[in-house]
Amino acid sequence: MKTEKQTIHDFDLNIIYDFFSNSERQGPGSPEETLRALSFINGLTEKSKIADIGCGTGGQTMVLGQNTPCEIIGVDAWPDFIDQFNQNARSKNLQNRVKGIVGNMENLPFEEEELDLIWSEGAIYNIGFERGLNEWRKFLKKGGYIAVTENTWFSEERPDEIQDFWQKAYPEIDTIPNKVAQMQKAGYLPIATYVLPETIWTAYYTWQTLRREAFLKKYAGNKAVEKFIDAQRYEAELYYKYKEYYGYVFYIGKKI
Ligand code: SAM
Repeated sequence: MKTEKQTIHDFDLNIIYDFFSNSERQGPGSPEETLRALSFINGLTEKSKIADIGCGTGGQTMVLGQNTPCEIIGVDAWPDFIDQFNQNARSKNLQNRVKGIVGNMENLPFEEEELDLIWSEGAIYNIGFERGLNEWRKFLKKGGYIAVTENTWFSEERPDEIQDFWQKAYPEIDTIPNKVAQMQKAGYLPIATYVLPETIWTAYYTWQTLRREAFLKKYAGNKAVEKFIDAQRYEAELYYKYKEYYGYVFYIGKKI
């Protein structure tokens, strides 16, 4: 009999947020990859405005802050992450131009054509890749850029176990050519697309393994937490087994 496996999206948000609280990043990514993506963006000045959507505690936002002269607004739905974000900005002396605000990516507080760059690492899946590209476009100036990471299939065919898992966790997962076509259709010139190295996932899963021990102690006997940890372990196990079939991809486009 096939058992129905849970994905981390099936759990109480408080558990998920507590697990990822006080971490540098809440998803797969690294300063090197943020800088690599940033190298495709031209023309940023001290007058430019960037929004980092689903910024979490701001690991990647601080890299943007330290490597551009721009004003940057980080938006996240979880207030504790935004508190940590603003503490991070202060500790790096970026607080005058890097600010975190609580907000919903489905209803962003920006004016039309206010932004020069929209950034979103490991977060656009919350609204859906295609919907996010379409709905956020109006906030960009003409010629402004969007840079997002998205979980993506590397091949047309894959084993049922991994197909079924991601189909349930994120039905919008698709291949690179299909994602690029969605970007073009949404009104962007696709500028660059590249696959992030495996190490961004392995580092992320290694961090999770270390965090689990303390987390299980903190919530000893809590069945929901045990199930959450099991689901996380299963996701990581699948990654190591099937990593040739999927991974994170950076998609960078320019509003036309
Ligand atoms: N960008 C960060 C990083 O790469 O470390 C965080 C990525 S984390 C996987 C996804 C983030 O999206 C979380 O911080 C979560 O709170 C945020 N999020 C989820 N739904 C959201 C929504 N509707 N509006 C704004 N943020 C949201």
